[in-house]
Amino acid sequence: MTVRLRRLNGGETAVTDERLDALRAAFQGPLITPGDPGYDESRVVHNGMFDRHPGLIARCSGAADVIDAVNLARERDLLVAVRGGGHGIAGHSACDEAMMIDLSAMRGVWVNPAERLVRVQGGATWGDVDRETQVFGLAVPGGVVSTTGVAGLTLGGGLGWLHRKYGLTCDNLAAAEIVTADGALLRTSATEHEELFWALRGGGGNFGVVTAFEFHAHPVGPTVMYGLAMYAAADAEEILPAWRTWTTGLPDEVTGRAMFWSMPASPLLPPEVHNRDVFITAAVYAGPPDEATEILRPIGQFGTPLADLTGPMPFRDVQRLLDWMFPKGQLLSYWKSVGVRELGDDVLEVVLRRGLERPHPQTMVHVPQMGGAVQRPGIHDTAFGDRSAAYIVSIDGNWTDAADTEADVQWVRDAFNEVNGLPSASGTYLNFSGDPDLDSASRRAAFGENLDRLARVKRDFDPGNRFRLNNNIRPTG
Ligand SMILES: Cc1cc2nc3c(=O)[nH]c(=O)nc-3n(C[C@H](O)[C@H](O)[C@H](O)COP(=O)(O)OP(=O)(O)OC[C@H]3O[C@@H](n4cnc5c(N)ncnc54)[C@H](O)[C@@H]3O)c2cc1C
Repeated sequence: MTVRLRRLNGGETAVTDERLDALRAAFQGPLITPGDPGYDESRVVHNGMFDRHPGLIARCSGAADVIDAVNLARERDLLVAVRGGGHGIAGHSACDEAMMIDLSAMRGVWVNPAERLVRVQGGATWGDVDRETQVFGLAVPGGVVSTTGVAGLTLGGGLGWLHRKYGLTCDNLAAAEIVTADGALLRTSATEHEELFWALRGGGGNFGVVTAFEFHAHPVGPTVMYGLAMYAAADAEEILPAWRTWTTGLPDEVTGRAMFWSMPASPLLPPEVHNRDVFITAAVYAGPPDEATEILRPIGQFGTPLADLTGPMPFRDVQRLLDWMFPKGQLLSYWKSVGVRELGDDVLEVVLRRGLERPHPQTMVHVPQMGGAVQRPGIHDTAFGDRSAAYIVSIDGNWTDAADTEADVQWVRDAFNEVNGLPSASGTYLNFSGDPDLDSASRRAAFGENLDRLARVKRDFDPGNRFRLNNNIRPTG
């Protein structure tokens, strides 16, 4: 079957059977076209907002397949989407009638415990990484939902339960291998293609397809002290300021967050929180669990909790605890976030009001604490745009009925604008952004002082902007 594919600069091109057969003869992974068995499952991405129909899904088995896919894209001037874990909030990893370069079969993870180095293929998830690293009592700082892809999260920064102790995920990158727009496979590190390596640490998917990452890992677990208390949301007016005060004196071992959310009546949850709007305070202590008993005890003492689940827990379980709340394809999501240099009363007022008026139970107002090791690198050491935030205020709109989309997107935007208009607003975190096309103000807010340098790296490695379905940086300079 001849497939019709979108070209980069508009219009479409027909890729004939013969050309696809030639690619198939070389390709190790499957090439999936509309109508093929498995096409519908293969095109699904995490965010239920996006029901996209790529013209061709090139499911790569390794770097050689990626090179062939990128070469076809260049030869036929194709628009390409790149899928790692498929969790992107803005839906960039699938596009109607485009070629999807799909790394979801490339999930290998290899640990070198002696050097505390971890090699991870470009389609792995954090669950894949935790599974292998925890055997050695090691962890790479990743995200808080184990089904999230390593690739998108790392390239955009990466924060989770360990960032205040060990930095952003991108700060732990030792090397990366990438297929650039010209089909070259390059190894990048502090001594190889240094500018490209710099750009990969925060500049997103702009520079090519990363086939493998190499990370520094750290001793974590296998058991950590996990703090989690759930209060009635209606009590948050007292609890939120107490939580703020507590967070200002914490050692870097503690990475915590607060959230307004609603709990379903699930057997996985204590009955006290079933069908309740809750205010959650949670944290992980990245050190020996017995050291943390006193440090994390206040988590359940800011008021009278409905449930306090604080205690030792295997790190892998912590990492998977929230997975079931984010079922693939079932939630429609639109998120926006603002970094804040301090959590002043003005910020708290918006967080509290918006937290209490969330339009849907799945919608979150989520405040991860930053600082610690995130603030130690200089702003020009990596491409990550804003290290000044002490907290991020993330307005995570999630709902299930498409009829609500317009109103919910507007609600998220309004809440975002309120926080973003406050004097302590410092930037935006693009991994928590649902906007498919960045306007120039958002691009500047996200990449900050690093934007111009990023645009020059983009010019050097992707002058035609082949990789544009992402938080796009235009090649200039
Ligand atoms: C439920 C959920 C929980 C999350 N939790 C966290 C969290 O705790 N911390 C955090 O920091 N973020 C979190 N995120 C946000 C997450 O970091 C981003 O959505 C990220 O883009 C996901 O990466 P992915 O590979 O899964 O996504 P994809 O949709 O596959 O890709 C997203 C972007 O990355 C690019 N990309 C993907 N793979 C590659 C590759 N191999 N080479 C080059 N470019 C590539 C794509 O082109 C696209 O632009 C969460 C998201 C969800 C949906």
